[in-house]
Amino acid sequence: MTTATLIEGDGIGPEIAAATVRVVEAAGGKITWERAYAGAAAVDKFKDPLPQATIDSIKKNQLALKGPLATPSGGGYRSVNVTLRQQFDLYANVRPVQTIPGVPSRYTNVDLVIVRENTEDLYAGVEHYVDPRRTAAESIAIITKFGSERVITYAFEYAKRMGRKKVTLVHKANILKMSNGLFLDTGREVAKRYPEIQFDDMIVDATAMKLVLAPERFDVIVTMNLFGDILSDLTAGLVGGLGVAPAANIGDGGCAMFEAVHGTAPDIAGKGIANPTGLMLSAALLLEHVQQTDPANRLRRGIRAALLNSDTRTGDLGGRANTVGFTDAVIRSMEISPDSSGVIRAMD
Ligand code: NAD
Repeated sequence: MTTATLIEGDGIGPEIAAATVRVVEAAGGKITWERAYAGAAAVDKFKDPLPQATIDSIKKNQLALKGPLATPSGGGYRSVNVTLRQQFDLYANVRPVQTIPGVPSRYTNVDLVIVRENTEDLYAGVEHYVDPRRTAAESIAIITKFGSERVITYAFEYAKRMGRKKVTLVHKANILKMSNGLFLDTGREVAKRYPEIQFDDMIVDATAMKLVLAPERFDVIVTMNLFGDILSDLTAGLVGGLGVAPAANIGDGGCAMFEAVHGTAPDIAGKGIANPTGLMLSAALLLEHVQQTDPANRLRRGIRAALLNSDTRTGDLGGRANTVGFTDAVIRSMEISPDSSGVIRAMD
């Protein structure tokens, strides 16, 4: 058994978390969930959006699954998502993007992964007004060799582990010769240590166009924080949107936090109609991370089977099922699954 911290989150969070806990167990995942609070739920209960007990739980387990958290716009507390990333130095944001049959999208054969640097760049938060009248402002992008090297190395290691063939480094080093040049130069050095994996680099604007024209040509993309933020949503759009997108945040020392990338969906919270696919696929990544590969694959197969049929898909994907109906269908599909010889057999 592996213990993981479970933060159900706000809005639809508790509904999709309950569904995810059910399917992980049905897939044979050996996970003990330790519930912890963050976001609005934690403010209600403990008057603190990120209680120390939650931090301690993640520190101890080094593994967490997180539902969406409400972040107040303008005033109020600062984003708990950002605080968690900083607290645990979760420097690599990993977003696998795959076409899922049954999910409406414009493409049929997308299978790529975005590895985004999560801690530096324009998001380091160094900005100020240049003059007292606030007619000009300056934001500083910080790129370090240390930060570049660890995220690019992570991308190559990921490619090696997952049997992927190519890493494409995305940058704007033709204009930002120093900051982006440093990222690119570091990438070229790291690539020499992985001769078995192809390496190329691409300017970010050309990448955006090529992703739309021919996304099947990409394999692993590694890039800086701002470009990664934009490209990971762009690529989610290639396969049906944020509702079905999983994500992993990986830190040094093996700490890892998995999350659905959509928000708390306050408009449908409590109605029992939320789509739990993003969190379920994030749980599959978590299982894979702790080497529970068979349950991870079984869970993915179950999700894909349930998404194929409009009777078992949720309404946001043009289906007729509610959250529980979809979850039941995922579990049924895992119980009866075709083996490699095409014979239907009950799963062990
Ligand atoms: P949202 O993703 O919550 O909702 C956008 C639209 O998508 C809504 O119509 C919603 O009903 C729908 N939707 C989202 N997830 C769905 C699901 N699983 N199933 C069915 N429909 C789904 O974005 P928002 O409205 O901009 O944000 C609401 C709150 O969520 C804000 O407080 C925001 O800060 C927070 N948020 C949190 C995260 C996170 O924790 N990772 C990410 C984004 C937004």
